[in-house]
Amino acid sequence: MSNNRDTYTPWTRDYRPETRAAQGDGWRCPTTGAVPPPIGLGATFARDDQYRTPAGHAYLRDQGTPGYEQAEDVVAGLEGGSEALVFSSGMAAATAVFQVLPAGSRVVVPQTMYFGLTKWLLEFGPQRGLEVVRVPMDDLDAVAAAVAAAPTALLWAESPANPTWLVTDLAACAEIAHRAGALFGVDNTVPTPVHARPFELGADLIMHSGTKYLNGHTDVVAGFLVAAPGPDEHRAALWERLRLHRRLTGPILGPWETYLLMRGIRTLYPRMRQISATAMQLAEHFDGHPLVSRVAYPGLPGDLGHEVAARQMTGGFSGMLSLHVAGEWQRSLRAAQYCELFIRATSLGGVESLIEHRYTFEGPGSTSPMDMLRLSIGLESPTDLVADLEQALERAAKDEL
Ligand SMILES: *Cc1c(COP(=O)(O)O)cnc(C)c1O
Repeated sequence: MSNNRDTYTPWTRDYRPETRAAQGDGWRCPTTGAVPPPIGLGATFARDDQYRTPAGHAYLRDQGTPGYEQAEDVVAGLEGGSEALVFSSGMAAATAVFQVLPAGSRVVVPQTMYFGLTKWLLEFGPQRGLEVVRVPMDDLDAVAAAVAAAPTALLWAESPANPTWLVTDLAACAEIAHRAGALFGVDNTVPTPVHARPFELGADLIMHSGTKYLNGHTDVVAGFLVAAPGPDEHRAALWERLRLHRRLTGPILGPWETYLLMRGIRTLYPRMRQISATAMQLAEHFDGHPLVSRVAYPGLPGDLGHEVAARQMTGGFSGMLSLHVAGEWQRSLRAAQYCELFIRATSLGGVESLIEHRYTFEGPGSTSPMDMLRLSIGLESPTDLVADLEQALERAAKDEL
């Protein structure tokens, strides 16, 4: 029943990432040989007569379910990291990093990033003795000045950043952080390892909302942290605290969700390639469209972040774009209401295309522009997606006449 590193010998060959994802690193049920990994429902694990834990598992909160080992090894491998830890959500993973920093730590974070993390940092950061400094990440001088102004523990980035898709120069930020003795963490949820490799650009830590593209089917909430390869005392100390934090506080994923997450990861590469190609087609179609004042998508040559994105992303620019609707801002909300194929829902990264008026979703304190519609592109026909948006934008514009 166990599916662990001691009883199963993973591949010895160094296969390419798409191969590792498709076959889940070649893990099998060690007792039956079943190709899909078994789902282990144990919350506690029996010891043998020598009082040993046969597969290294004693209690669910402490080591997780045996399925963790496969998901963690595969995600660490796809990112080119040394180790990964799975969490019960992306937020559980991200906030773990800020929670294990010593009180009094100074952290420099993006002015615009995933709204939940901003909210947590503003609400709980100061209470826990964190000094939270927010900077516009596309202004490298501002980032460097913020990091150099006082001893800084951590610089955090997200690129392209939700929901404006602002691009951050990750290599430059890694250098700024390391020059000041700070660690550099990157939320790689949106590009995924298919399109961005932050460790190759100097990141110390990668965070994922596994809820999004990694799982890809809108049916699991999950998160990951991944540690960079290579020895680094500072980083290793943080990693041990993160492992202990998860063990003692229990933001763990259940066995069923772990199974579904790993099942989703198997198709990550073909999903991302098609999703990114469709997103590019939509961005090009609506770029310069009379009913759209601006398309925010790093794949467009005219996008502010295109030059950096083209340098640090590979094989595409992911499936997230935002349309700024021309005219009064209410027109964007109405266009969302008129969509028939795009699903009006939050979240991103699934096989179904979603549309969201982000300002309405985020509520007070939102930095999202009011004329903006956030699109998460799925696997539908690009022709159908374009037609749906066309009719919705037209109806929304006509309403004013
Ligand atoms: C969704 C998301 C998160 C939070 O992840 P959850 O799994 O919802 O907790 C963090 N960062 C980004 C970029 C996200 O899209």
